[in-house]
Amino acid sequence: MRKKIVAGNWKMNNDLNKSLALISDLLKKVPQTNAEVMIAPTFVNLIPAVEAVKGSHIEVIAQNMHFAENGAYTGEISAEMLGSIGVKTTILGHSERRAYFNETDESLAKKVNTALKHNMRVVFCIGEELADRKANKHFDVVGSQIKNGLFHLPAEAWQHIVLAYEPVWAIGTGETATPDQAQEIHHFIRKTIADKYGKGVADKVSILYGGSVKPDNAKEIFAKEDVDGGLIGGAALKADDFVTIIKSI
Ligand code: PEP
Repeated sequence: MRKKIVAGNWKMNNDLNKSLALISDLLKKVPQTNAEVMIAPTFVNLIPAVEAVKGSHIEVIAQNMHFAENGAYTGEISAEMLGSIGVKTTILGHSERRAYFNETDESLAKKVNTALKHNMRVVFCIGEELADRKANKHFDVVGSQIKNGLFHLPAEAWQHIVLAYEPVWAIGTGETATPDQAQEIHHFIRKTIADKYGKGVADKVSILYGGSVKPDNAKEIFAKEDVDGGLIGGAALKADDFVTIIKSI
């Protein structure tokens, strides 16, 4: 059985006080569940967040990291630094990173290598823009993001990879892929992995859906066979909404 996961991406939101208040609320409200629950606060709040969730089943993860081991990369954060404070998972390739910070499949492939070298798990984001979807190119775009970012990996590395399919047109817009659209592309993603690595590997990869998941649509989306949970943006900033989404899985 592959893992069910609900991950909250806080992006550049919540100062220290707000982060700790939200965590404290979550600790009271997050149900005991078989699903893994992750939250990704901003870098500066990772240390207190890791401390605050100790002993709970909430995992604190990073939103990004650099591909280099260390060195002259002003403003950047390395895998080793994250590991040293107890962060064992990072999101990579979020569409905002790809769009605003020029992250490419090639630079992401390097980041994936560095993360895995440091025994970190990766939540790797993929997803097409609206123009791609309108031109019926979404399968090509998503397929090449997977191939270019991840197909250099050996089969055994896939146990450390979680995929997050996030159509860019659905992120923060209130637009959501329909459950059937999500299932269609999640199935395509799993088949793409199976064609390269075999069904045994593909069936174990958790594929999350992200893009305006809310308390009132989560259940329908999560019910789809190839949807193994969600990467949640806006709704992860409100404890009650995030908890309702977790309960939907
Ligand atoms: C995200 O940015 O990963 C995301 C899914 O955002 P939202 O839920 O706000 O659309």
